[in-house]
Amino acid sequence: MVVNWKNIDTVLLDMDGTLLDLHFDNYFWLTHLPRRYAQQFHRKEASVKKMIHTRLLEERGTLNWYSTDFWSTEFNIDIVALKREIKHLITKRPKTSRFLENLAIAGKQRVLVTNADHNGMQIKFTQTQIDLEVDRVISSHDYGYPKEQRAFWDHLRKEIDFDPNRTAFIDDSILVLRAAQDYGIRYLFCIAQPDSQMRENVDLDFFAIRDFDHLFDGFSRG
Ligand SMILES: [Mg+2]
Repeated sequence: MVVNWKNIDTVLLDMDGTLLDLHFDNYFWLTHLPRRYAQQFHRKEASVKKMIHTRLLEERGTLNWYSTDFWSTEFNIDIVALKREIKHLITKRPKTSRFLENLAIAGKQRVLVTNADHNGMQIKFTQTQIDLEVDRVISSHDYGYPKEQRAFWDHLRKEIDFDPNRTAFIDDSILVLRAAQDYGIRYLFCIAQPDSQMRENVDLDFFAIRDFDHLFDGFSRG
């Protein structure tokens, strides 16, 4: 896919699963949290896994789903402390830094837009310094609406100067991309393999990025 770079001023970038490997998050919620919860409350790991999974699904797509405070209260456990225990698993996706650098050279406004809350962001930033590789950082928790909702985009538009018609947005969530599409963001991309330890997603509704280099090649040719 070739996109004319000249038509784009702003690039909105999701954090988890887009700039950073989603393996950390998947491993935390599916393995580490159930294991540590089972230890702390003397429960069987298998039943804890089921309980946590069920509760998580109930909050899917809401701001709670992304809130460390919410889950700390809900599970009566220090989510941030448990995340720190496996912080060595937090890594950038391949070629993320080069991609962000190329965007800067091309003069594009780079805005990290995440549903992670400030606790969640801080762990990621401390480990990767990804915040230093973009021009702005926005957490949907500051607006009170997740990226899945139109209200998020209305708030973003008030805070940041961007023309939806001249903006690209990269995210690994199809629901979020649909919301951005409904809002009128013109250039939408998803991530083929958000978690390096899982298989590639197939049959996606949006153009899937396999390699950031290819995307930039396409852009720069335009
Ligand atoms: Mg994501």
